[in-house]
Amino acid sequence: MKKILLWLCMMAFPWNAVAKVNIVGTLPIFASLAQEVGGDRVEVTSLARGNQDPHFLDAKPTYVVALNKADLLIHGGLDLEVGWLPPVLVQARNSKILPNNPGNVNAAQGLNILEVPKTLVDRSMGDVHPAGNPHAWLDPRNAKLIAANIFQHLAQVDPEGKAYYQGRLQDFLNRLNQKMTEWNQSSQSFHEKKVVTYHKSFTYFADWTGLNVIDTVESKPGIPPNAKHIDELLKLIPQEGVKAIIVESYYPKKVPEYLSQKAGVPLLQLPTDVGEDGITNYIELIDALIRDVKKAVG
Ligand SMILES: [Zn+2]
Repeated sequence: MKKILLWLCMMAFPWNAVAKVNIVGTLPIFASLAQEVGGDRVEVTSLARGNQDPHFLDAKPTYVVALNKADLLIHGGLDLEVGWLPPVLVQARNSKILPNNPGNVNAAQGLNILEVPKTLVDRSMGDVHPAGNPHAWLDPRNAKLIAANIFQHLAQVDPEGKAYYQGRLQDFLNRLNQKMTEWNQSSQSFHEKKVVTYHKSFTYFADWTGLNVIDTVESKPGIPPNAKHIDELLKLIPQEGVKAIIVESYYPKKVPEYLSQKAGVPLLQLPTDVGEDGITNYIELIDALIRDVKKAVG
């Protein structure tokens, strides 16, 4: 009898009708990488939109609801979301996704972190990321590791799907490797080309492509530019032969526009996440960055 019941249950609920693993990414980029690995077995959402500043989000009640129901939370780690995520996590009352549980994916785990401060960080230095630069995903070598991190956790949360996730991860890595050959070729012309970016969001992209970010529009991390810094940049840009000013889509354009006009160098507004400019996945994001930077500096 038991066997018949079990069989009837299986007929009524084939595996694809079973509740999917509910994954919440703090940012669309993490949700998107989770979709690559998770395929049909997962349901992914993102708290932020692609055109929002990941450092400063207004924690909405919908975030609490989403995290309360999540099986897996993927965050940037390195205090990227420290300004808004911790109180939301407390309110969500979901022990599965708290740190040190399989349901909590720190995307930065195992990455080679750049710009780790060598001295003790204090407020006079601005909003320095005290554990190093968290904007790591714009280097595809890191995207591979982040996808592998997501796989490790997914396989623990949903062990029955492990082989399926493994296959999807491998397929994503294969596609990424193929694209990287093409990107490495296209970005050859970036080597040592100097740019100024608004925030240090492109450090890892620059480290990978050879682009040289010589300064930021911000006077200090997280602090809008002051008149003194703007004057310094106006001297520095021609002196150093800066090729372009790059501004992330969510930062104010007024000062970058002024610098671009005054110094006569192109202003480049670039996405840092999926969900902008019709970009739907990781490969499209890096495709767009390589294409636009090449147009401006290459
Ligand atoms: Zn930052």
